[in-house]
Amino acid sequence: MKILVMNAGSSSLKYQLIDMENESVLAKGNADRIGIDGSFVKHKKGDCDNVVINKALPTHKEAIETILSLLTDKEQGVISSMQEISAVGHRVVASGEYFKKPTLVTEESLELMKKTFELGPLHNPAAYTGVMACREVMPGTPMVLVFDTTFHLTMPETAYMYNIKYEDYVDFHVRRYGAHGTSHKFVSGKAAEYLGKDIKDLNIITCHLGNGSSISAVKGGVCVDTSMGFTPLAGVCMGTRAGDIDASAVEFLAKKKGMDIYEITYYLNRECGLKGLSGGYSDFRDLRENVEKGGELGRRAQLALDKFAYDCKKYVGSYMAVLGRVDCIVFTAGISEWNGFIINNILDGLDAYGIKVDKEKNTDSCSVPVKDITAADSKVKILVIPTNEELVIARETRDVVS
Ligand code: ADP
Repeated sequence: MKILVMNAGSSSLKYQLIDMENESVLAKGNADRIGIDGSFVKHKKGDCDNVVINKALPTHKEAIETILSLLTDKEQGVISSMQEISAVGHRVVASGEYFKKPTLVTEESLELMKKTFELGPLHNPAAYTGVMACREVMPGTPMVLVFDTTFHLTMPETAYMYNIKYEDYVDFHVRRYGAHGTSHKFVSGKAAEYLGKDIKDLNIITCHLGNGSSISAVKGGVCVDTSMGFTPLAGVCMGTRAGDIDASAVEFLAKKKGMDIYEITYYLNRECGLKGLSGGYSDFRDLRENVEKGGELGRRAQLALDKFAYDCKKYVGSYMAVLGRVDCIVFTAGISEWNGFIINNILDGLDAYGIKVDKEKNTDSCSVPVKDITAADSKVKILVIPTNEELVIARETRDVVS
């Protein structure tokens, strides 16, 4: 069975064709600048070099047509016809409480999907456009909506409720939803597999540290708490997002800066976090470089890195309290995979709780499916596992259509 995984943004469309027999990626790529001048599709067949097709892509429909013609192309293709694609899995960022699990695309589910637009205003309408375009081009192929948030819907009421008027939760669905669910699910499952244990018997803290970062407490394979909130703006310091902040400080800042509610929300999403603290640098590579250079820019970069580690430490600590016993802490995504020092800093001083990193093994790269950085005398396993959200989407899609 071959599954096409689609991840549609407002002007982009990422794809992977996965062979479920051995879970290998047959081809992948992305269409970019859809609806904008200079659009193109970058396509990669297996281990071959990328090919770039420069072509007008006025809408997602033309992008999908181009992707399908590349997948079935004599030279660049990996399948002989579109009929070889058994199903399409679409990534959708926000499920709200409308969808509890991956769901087959039908007229009813598409109607329900529209209700989620206000919960993921930047992403969900784009995903919907992607689904509609895909249906037009591949009318007979079953499709599945796979949400970033459904993994977190197992959280107990005490974890997902905000302390607001209960009626406002009921009427407006304002609560913690979290994000990166497919990633937290993948790495917790992979950790259990690596440890040779049934996931039902494990308590795991999963740390997805990338441009957006979130930390989850996973008990027996189900999420019991997560750091992101109603939107991905909450939780730890991120590339450009502020993370947790007192709502009164937001009102105060908006007044001082003469911003309306939309401008201050944009500011908190795009101008804060590592970027805001460091003086304009959201990427760990730049921050490390600036620390080396020293001076005021170096001091600010160091502050951003220290604050990031401190925020993560606080969440790890609170999830140790939530879980009671922790068997394993897993780190994933770009920051974790390429910056061993940050894991050392996050877990520094937790020896008393049986958490100890082997600093020799904790290198600045991760080229294996699981990098075990647990010190010999650590009670808690500490792993770095590259995430694979597309594979989770493909697996969920297969399970829904089979
Ligand atoms: P996202 O998918 O949310 O864009 P990623 O998981 O790619 O984020 O992580 C982005 C972060 O990972 C950035 O801070 C970036 O600096 C860091 N990163 C990625 N590659 C490297 C690298 N080779 N060396 C150091 N840091 C890296």
